[in-house]
Amino acid sequence: MISLAPALPDDDKFHEECGVFGLWNAKDAAALTALGLHALQHRGQEAAGIVSLNDGGTFHAHRGRGLVGDNFSDAKVIAALPGHAAVGHNRYATTGETALRNVQPLFADFAFGGLAVAHNGNLTNAHGLRRTLVNRGCLFQSTTDTEVFIHLIAISLYSTVVDRLIDALKQVQGAYSLVALHDGALIGARDPLGVRPLVLGRLGGEADAEAGWVLASETCALEIVGAEFVRDVEPGEIVVIDRDGPRSIKPFGRHQSRFCIFEYIYFARPDSIVEGTPVYETRKRIGAELARESGVAADVVVPVPDSGVPAAMGYAAEAGIPFELGIIRNHYVGRTFIEPTDQIRNLGVKLKHSANRAMIEGKRVILVDDSIVRGTTSRKIVEMVRAAGAAEVHMRVSSPPTTHSCYYGIDTPERGKLMAARNSVEEMAAIIGVDSLAFISLDGLYRALGRPGRDTAKPAYCDACFTGDYAIPLTDQFGNAERQLSLLQASE
Ligand code: SF4
Repeated sequence: MISLAPALPDDDKFHEECGVFGLWNAKDAAALTALGLHALQHRGQEAAGIVSLNDGGTFHAHRGRGLVGDNFSDAKVIAALPGHAAVGHNRYATTGETALRNVQPLFADFAFGGLAVAHNGNLTNAHGLRRTLVNRGCLFQSTTDTEVFIHLIAISLYSTVVDRLIDALKQVQGAYSLVALHDGALIGARDPLGVRPLVLGRLGGEADAEAGWVLASETCALEIVGAEFVRDVEPGEIVVIDRDGPRSIKPFGRHQSRFCIFEYIYFARPDSIVEGTPVYETRKRIGAELARESGVAADVVVPVPDSGVPAAMGYAAEAGIPFELGIIRNHYVGRTFIEPTDQIRNLGVKLKHSANRAMIEGKRVILVDDSIVRGTTSRKIVEMVRAAGAAEVHMRVSSPPTTHSCYYGIDTPERGKLMAARNSVEEMAAIIGVDSLAFISLDGLYRALGRPGRDTAKPAYCDACFTGDYAIPLTDQFGNAERQLSLLQASE
């Protein structure tokens, strides 16, 4: 039986969190926002939503489960979202169930008017705040922690929207990039350590007041709407865009930035420029560094598609070994596929990948992938490559071993299910069935990002899923920083 089904989640990857997009002062704002969300589809595939603001100050919303194209292809839907400003959100559920009431942007009517909020990331003290707010009489409509922002803004004693938002942000802990829209401004904010990305773009106009302005998770969403990249929103910065153009507020003082290093390895789209660095080039440099660190004699370098491709190119160029597409990915498997009976489920990885026998048979193969999470997919891919006649299979991984879970807005398995948390590299090689296995070192990864290595006293990035060095307290998990430290050390 052939059936339409939602995209198959790959349960052997860390999952991107969410994508946010906001637009101010642009004709057809909702249509452009749908395009922006489409470019950010890789950051969340479970649901999408847009809230627009018309020139009379009325908000209009449409949200739905599924992909952007499933929800915003119909011209009637876009026509029902009039106005020159909009915010949008792609959701991959990191908190809360997947019900429609959790689909963002969330919207609420306050004494000062309406406010729509879309958020990417995860608050690490949301449960505690939620309990306090419920005890104070706040009625929550959803289970997403984004609603915590809404209630904190509602009960704030400050008068302006921006001051209320700052008041709310000072009470939350966690990693977030958010966009908010009220009838006087589009607002963007990043957490004080800048863990999650947010960029500012500009759409035409000579003077700032005439221009259109865009806030987006990644630069690829600027490209698609024809906006030019202006700059990254800085860690801890609030950008308020109103009829005079953007202005910047920095209420948190200066902190060492701890941007998510996994954005470079896997999450961000390869054509995006992240924190001033092109992702595609960075991935090639990581692959080259990996080749220098753990070279092995082989006939061919084969990426695990798609995300392993740039690192494999860098590896092959550095090692002087031919690069070949020895594994072909079926891009349509997630949309239409045979109903998953047990028999079909057992075919597993073959739904998505197939070996290109002509490039593999009789050869010593280096497989390059971006990460090993549970290891289940890696094992099946190695089996497939061996079945296609490979003489040897070596695996090289362009991230260090993922030994810890992420609490900052990335969907990861609990720590006990991470293969690298329970096994040495040699044990992992035996389980996966490769002749050799190597991961890039943490210092090597930092070198590929243009640093001398990891400065353990002042790391430049969040790398907690490789180190357990959680820069933002995990209050909901562990209560307080001391308890967090002792429990993490106990679990080493
Ligand atoms: S723990 Fe890992 S995935 Fe999560 S924010 Fe930090 S680097 Fe990114």
